[in-house]
Amino acid sequence: MIPYGRQSIGEDDIEAVEEVLRGGWLTQGPAVDQFERDLTAATGAAHAVAFANGTAALHAACAAAGLGPGDRVVTSPLTFAASANCARYVGADVGLVDIDPATWNIDLAGLPQDCDAAVVVHYAGLPVDLRELGYRPSVVIEDAAHAFGAKTPDGPVGNCAHSDMCCFSFHPVKTITTGEGGAVTTNSAVHAAALRTFRHHGIVANPSRGAWVYDIPSLGFNYRLTDIQAALGSSQLQKLDRFVARRNELASRYRELLAGSTVGLPPEAPDGFVHGRHLFPVVVESRDLVFAAMRQRGIGVQVHYVPIYALGAYADLGCSPADLPHTDALYRRLISLPMFPDLTEEDQDRVVTALLAVL
Ligand SMILES: *Cc1c(COP(=O)(O)O)cnc(C)c1O
Repeated sequence: MIPYGRQSIGEDDIEAVEEVLRGGWLTQGPAVDQFERDLTAATGAAHAVAFANGTAALHAACAAAGLGPGDRVVTSPLTFAASANCARYVGADVGLVDIDPATWNIDLAGLPQDCDAAVVVHYAGLPVDLRELGYRPSVVIEDAAHAFGAKTPDGPVGNCAHSDMCCFSFHPVKTITTGEGGAVTTNSAVHAAALRTFRHHGIVANPSRGAWVYDIPSLGFNYRLTDIQAALGSSQLQKLDRFVARRNELASRYRELLAGSTVGLPPEAPDGFVHGRHLFPVVVESRDLVFAAMRQRGIGVQVHYVPIYALGAYADLGCSPADLPHTDALYRRLISLPMFPDLTEEDQDRVVTALLAVL
């Protein structure tokens, strides 16, 4: 089976991990510090805080922003559940804003004036143009799990030019991997300090009263990344531009091979933007039949995503597909084709041949 996504691991990555294993420190330590410095260099943000996974990063960002009960956090319905779950973890309410059919991202013009925060997802790796925020909620968090290495006219996604915090995931299908892992970037020293405390049980040391003295003024979690993972992250980060360039190359090739067919192609990045190309979702009629036939031919297609309003945990939103018509119309016909840097052109040809035959 050709998967829809997978990691790309080289000897350099293996050596970087081995070096940590031969050293004296396994959990969060000097390699995490180094990875965080590498992340600030790659994104241009003032601070980077590494987390155990992308979901923990989103949870911590909501907590560091001070979101909680009574706050209304909006996000796109066309995303992985974590983009909405993070708001619920801190006791806030979730609201959904339909996608813009031209970008498949949240329609910024649809942000309700009474929302307190937005979790903005760069779907498939296409950056949301945050310069177009008309109404700006008091908190803007980017879910950039798909968009590491993507760029806007303001620079790399993660520089937080128009947001308070930006969250990344380093799951194996994402642009770079640490096995499991995530990070938050921010230009706020206050947010960075809150993120670090939240990651470490909420512990605040008070050495002036004794080296052992600490308090936990409010609960945190154990959301630390290990040095083993961070070493892999720093090694992978050196290949970020190559990974993103290869993904864009494969995307251009899909566009050429599918041109003139009935397959609907995903939105392109506008001038001045670089697409992150985490996914290559396309639009087909009879999606469910195409999905089954492709899987049967050994092509690991996937659907990204079952919309948030269709998940049992969000049934209480009382949202029907008709409330989010653009998301619903796209979701019914959406299917992701394999997209990862090590996908060969022969395998990509196999995917396209199978898809055209199935159709
Ligand atoms: C992968 C992903 C996450 C969560 O990341 P994990 O590292 O798997 O916890 C969050 N949001 C989106 C949009 C994702 O694709």
